[in-house]
Amino acid sequence: MKRSARIEINLEALSHNLSVVRSFSQSAKIIAVVKANAYGHGMLTIARHLQDKVDALAVACVDEAKMLRESNIDCCIVVLQGFHDQQQLEQCLALNLEPVCHQHWQVDLLAQQSSDTQINVWLKIDTGMNRLGIAVEDSAELQQRLQALSIVNELKLMTHFANADDKTANSNQRQLDAFNSVLEGSALEASMSNSAAILSIPGSIKDWVRPGLMLYGVSPFPAQSAADFGLRPVMTLKSHIIAIKTVAAGDSIGYGSCWSSQRESQIAVVAIGYGDGYPRHASNDTPVKINGHICPLAGRVSMDMITVDVTDLANPADVGDEVELWGEGLDVGEVACNSSTIAYELLCNTGKDQ
Ligand SMILES: *Cc1c(COP(=O)(O)O)cnc(C)c1O
Repeated sequence: MKRSARIEINLEALSHNLSVVRSFSQSAKIIAVVKANAYGHGMLTIARHLQDKVDALAVACVDEAKMLRESNIDCCIVVLQGFHDQQQLEQCLALNLEPVCHQHWQVDLLAQQSSDTQINVWLKIDTGMNRLGIAVEDSAELQQRLQALSIVNELKLMTHFANADDKTANSNQRQLDAFNSVLEGSALEASMSNSAAILSIPGSIKDWVRPGLMLYGVSPFPAQSAADFGLRPVMTLKSHIIAIKTVAAGDSIGYGSCWSSQRESQIAVVAIGYGDGYPRHASNDTPVKINGHICPLAGRVSMDMITVDVTDLANPADVGDEVELWGEGLDVGEVACNSSTIAYELLCNTGKDQ
């Protein structure tokens, strides 16, 4: 069965966004983050388009990297979670991946591994995110230890911001200071910035940057839109109208009857729902674009349908008309905001089966 809900991927917009990344990144090398199926955009499509244009790709885990290699993506691939065990370390060696080491036991595994080939390794320092990474105090010792291992070819350093999307957070400067203190005594190349840091913390741009969200044409900041940065949405989520009905003033619509009409209203039923990745928590009045105009969501999102108030459209909506849920004409950030979530989650949920 062909689904009516579908995503369209604009690779020209992706190239354009890469040029925006470059304009903010001085001459830093670029690691394009394609984890989680390239934020729902389709990992292979995105990787194929970017592999010759960037310096590296990044995925979360070895399995994702393996999929890329099996599809003949032969550029440098950084594995952000690193290897989880010795078998994965061997895969990193066999597939020529660059794992991130963020725990002492991973360094121990490297030290014990016999291998004919060398491997490039990133050492991740925890400067305040308190998720992955070794303590700042341990970094000098671990750098020395890793560099002394014959299995390690090039060693690079990285850290990750906890609050880069909040320009007022004091922790950003603290993390920057902590990482700078690590870099002071070191000649190694380093990487710190995700999209939000690329756009707002120039001091964080070291030798390598790691953009994800902004490559896909989405702003990481709640108060600024993609257009504010000249970014263009890569994903457009579309479907179409499958029914139109007229409801009388006072009638309610859908599960929970959580929307009632103030007047006689025209309601369009659109073939998309939370089963397709549209957020169930989208509130009444979430924008939906029909025939080029923004109309308000009316009533609760169902598994495969939503209902939209099209009463005010100058040209009446009709069955079969195209509907845009987000993308080129409607910022996914706005939909996320109306759904108490972030654009990252909406993009990832939509593209799962692409
Ligand atoms: C996902 C991720 C990124 C990309 O973050 P964006 O906010 O999407 O730019 C960068 N670095 C690390 C370590 C990540 O996990």
